[in-house]
Order: sequence, then C-alpha cells, then structure tokens
Amino acid sequence: MFIENFPLSKVTSLGVGGPADLFIQPKSAEEVAKTQRFALERNLPLTVIGYGTNLLVRDGGIRGVVVQIADSLASAQVRGTSLTAQAGCLLGSLAKLALHHSLTGLEFAVGIPGGIGGATFMNAGAYGGEIGPLVAGIEFVQDGKVQRWKGEEFYFAYRSSRLQEEAKDAIVTGVELKLAPGAKPTILEAMNDFQEQRRSKQPLEYPSAGSTFKRPPGHYVGPLIEQAGLKGLRIGGAEVSTKHAGFIVKKGEASSRDFLNLITKIQEIILQDFGIALEPEIRILGED
Ligand SMILES: Cc1cc2nc3c(=O)[nH]c(=O)nc-3n(C[C@H](O)[C@H](O)[C@H](O)COP(=O)(O)OP(=O)(O)OC[C@H]3O[C@@H](n4cnc5c(N)ncnc54)[C@H](O)[C@@H]3O)c2cc1C
Repeated sequence: MFIENFPLSKVTSLGVGGPADLFIQPKSAEEVAKTQRFALERNLPLTVIGYGTNLLVRDGGIRGVVVQIADSLASAQVRGTSLTAQAGCLLGSLAKLALHHSLTGLEFAVGIPGGIGGATFMNAGAYGGEIGPLVAGIEFVQDGKVQRWKGEEFYFAYRSSRLQEEAKDAIVTGVELKLAPGAKPTILEAMNDFQEQRRSKQPLEYPSAGSTFKRPPGHYVGPLIEQAGLKGLRIGGAEVSTKHAGFIVKKGEASSRDFLNLITKIQEIILQDFGIALEPEIRILGED
C-alpha cells in the first residue's frame, strides 16, 4: 500500500529532506518484487532506503517510488554459525543475537545504527571490522524477481560493494552472515568497549548521518577538518560537530541545503589547504 507525498524527514536520522511521491514499506521479498515490477511497468524511478542513517535527502524530495526496507522486514535466525537476516534487521539487534548464540564477528557493528541491507550496500564497518567479509549470501530483488548471490560474487571494498558499482537497481531483501564460535564474555567485552568509544568520541546527542566523508588514503577526516579550523563551523542548522569534526550535526531548524552548502564549503577548504579531495560517505538523494 503506497503512501503519497510522504515526508522523508520522518525516516532519516538527520530529520531533513522533502517528500517521496510514493512511499512503501514492503512486508516480504515478494512484495518488494511486486513493487519493483509496478515501477518498471510505469517507468517510474525507484529508490530504496533502509533506516535512513546514512542519507541526506534533498529538500525537493524523491520522485517516483521510495521503498523502505526496515522493521516491516526484520526477522532473523541462527543455525550453527550462520546468521540469516531479513534486510530490515537492525545491526545492533543482530550483534546482540550473535552474542546470545556465542558467535563472534559482528562485535564491531553493535553501535552502527541502520539495517543489514543498508550495511551490506555500504559495506559498513568500524573498529577494524566490516560487513563484507562476513557475507556468505544475499537475497535481492532485480528485474522484478527475487534472486540470490553467493558471498564471493560481491567483491566488497572500503565502503563499497558490487551493489553500488553495477547492480544499482538491486534491492537487498536478506543477508546470510558467516560467523565463528566465540566466548560470550570476550564478545560482550569487545561490544561494551566499542560502545564506550562511540559514546565518548561521537556526537550521539545530536542528529547526524554518521561520518560525512570517506577516509582519504593515509589520512583521517576528523583531524584534517579540525586542523583547517572548521570545528563548529555552522551554516543554518548544520554544524561541524565540536566533539568530532568528521560528523556534521543538526542543531535546531535545518534544511538539506544547509548540509549541502556546509559539505561543499568543507570540501573547498580541505582541497585548498591540503590538496585533498574529500568524497562524501553519506548518500545524497533526491532533488533540490
Ligand atoms: C551516529 C552514527 C554513527 C554511524 N557509524 C557508522 C560506522 O561506524 N560505520 C559505518 O559504516 N557507518 C556508520 N554510520 C552510517 C550508517 O549507520 C550505516 O551506513 C548503515 O549501515 C546504513 O544503514 P541504513 O539502514 O540506515 O541505510 P540508509 O541510510 O537508509 O541507506 C544507505 C544506502 O544504502 C542503500 N540501501 C539501504 N537499504 C538497502 C537495501 N535493502 N538494498 C539495497 N540498497 C539499500 C540506500 O539506497 C543508500 O544508498 C553511522 C551513522 C550514524 C547516524
């Protein structure tokens, strides 16, 4: 069932962005396939989102159909060392499920907000871990049909996957992760440690979309932005976090334009000061 003119600011962690012409939260892979066929037959663009924790939707919103794969498609099970999850499962919940079954591998993901579908598309990672190497298989929808890939067919790279490179129209509906047996206290200790590092270093008290830029080879983004004197720089309601300069946070009322302008300003200054071209990690969708 589509909702017309749905404000995407309601389903993005930044809380900004215009409406989707048609918005749907499918409850099964078959419903995802049906939605894709609907869009293909009418020549409508289709955009897939997860929990919107890595997104900046422009103020004009997104034309055509927006499919949100989130809590309406979110069951998971463990068999042996294999964890099979629908794409809307939250990473944090999956990390806790792995802990419950004494499985190691997902500790790094405990504090990453967002779903396993988005995390697979982005090859999300933290603290030396990444989703890519854990992926044993993907269920996805393409050409209006539910299909499957095995792990080795994805070739993941830093914050990138085959899905981004050449299967842009694929909608991930399920992921199989291969974990390893571990000791519960060790797994729990690592998770608590990662959570504590996040709480102490990241501006979790303000809305954000995570790290704004990809890490350029040989550098860390936060210190570069800090050295350029840009901590606390503000345009409208978008501000370079004073706690961690790699994040742009929302303070009060903000538009997507504020974020886009601030991103451009940071890119210009970092290029001018250090000769480094910063590339956004956050995904920018929609129209002005
Ligand atoms: C405070 C904070 C901390 C964060 N820390 C980290 C971190 O440590 N490491 C990290 O990697 N990221 C981090 N992120 C970013 C984000 O949480 C991850 O990238 C997350 O995996 C995105 O999942 P999502 O469901 O929110 O996807 P969305 O943001 O909704 O979508 C992200 C991209 O994935 C695509 N996508 C989403 N679902 C699907 C699907 N089912 N099929 C195909 N494509 C899909 C979308 O089209 C979009 O291009 C952080 C974000 C915040 C707000």
